[in-house]
Amino acid sequence: MSNEIEKVTVIGSGCAGLTAALYTARAQLKPVVLTGAMPGGLLTTTSVVENFPGWPEGIDGTELMIKLQQQAERFGAEVRFGSEVEAVDFSQRPFKMVVDGEEMFTQTLIIASGAGHRHLGLESEKKLDKKGVTYCATCDGALPMFRDQPLVVVGGGDSACEEATYLTRFARKVYLVHRRNELRASKVMAARALNHEKIEPVWDSEITEILGESEDKVMGVRLKNNKTNDESVIDCAGVFIAIGHVPNTQIFQGQIDMDEEGYIIRKKNSQTSVEGVFVSGDCSDKVYRQAITAAGMGCAAAIEAERLLASENQ
Ligand code: NAP
Repeated sequence: MSNEIEKVTVIGSGCAGLTAALYTARAQLKPVVLTGAMPGGLLTTTSVVENFPGWPEGIDGTELMIKLQQQAERFGAEVRFGSEVEAVDFSQRPFKMVVDGEEMFTQTLIIASGAGHRHLGLESEKKLDKKGVTYCATCDGALPMFRDQPLVVVGGGDSACEEATYLTRFARKVYLVHRRNELRASKVMAARALNHEKIEPVWDSEITEILGESEDKVMGVRLKNNKTNDESVIDCAGVFIAIGHVPNTQIFQGQIDMDEEGYIIRKKNSQTSVEGVFVSGDCSDKVYRQAITAAGMGCAAAIEAERLLASENQ
């Protein structure tokens, strides 16, 4: 156990967390960043980021996050790789946390713990996870098991369209299975997917079972048409699930106000229901969920933490 009390601790190292670290580091508050299990956050699982201002040719998601981390470190942020918060106690300041089995204390906290992939919730999905079921085309799409095979992508948002388009590089054919008959994705991403000769949309359909051979290899999916209730089977070697995200906020349950879906409620000035705990990024945002909006929220939370500490002469 360390007796030291940090001025600012940032939980999470995606766009929100690292921007908060950059700003609080420049304010000479020596922030500590606890990266969690996925340093760099969800952006490291994407390919080219085309809509982050300042990169007219686009930039690789992982490269963007490494640059942001280096920028924060240059001003004195301490990034603790792989450090996971196991418990928090917000009943008094400094706040107590248990991190990798050790107690840690901090005067202010910026939660930027992001969001994880939503699952379909099927038993067969669990059984065949990493055996053909995946949540990241850029991570797994090039695996030999998927080469020149028919593949299924589930979802109707930008992620699903991006994944389906990316997979056409390797797959023989990509079925885009969506529960409605209209995509939620932005026009540009939707058109790119629907106009691709290798992509076939499967409308109004939900996967009821992922079919596997001896439960170690995906062989296909069983579908139900929502309008007709008709069942069908598509043969495929992989199922890429891209149906949105759930906030990584379980450890804060009971300590801080959240909405019914587990998103932390971000009040005026990036504050939460606990004074001294600020929030930014996807764990508090189900509307915009963009890298640039997360970065903006990280900046705002950092400025507010700095103001609070200054008002307390810390
Ligand atoms: P999303 O926009 O929330 O879309 C999720 C999709 O999954 C929706 O089409 C939804 O169907 C479907 N879905 C949800 N739960 C389902 C279930 N249980 N079973 C079957 N289908 C289900 O999520 P996203 O595509 O991950 O995008 C998240 C945010 O990131 C968006 O703001 C998006 O613009 C952004 N993004 C941007 C880029 C880019 O610009 N390069 C790339 C990826 C993501 P319904 O439509 O029927 O609700």
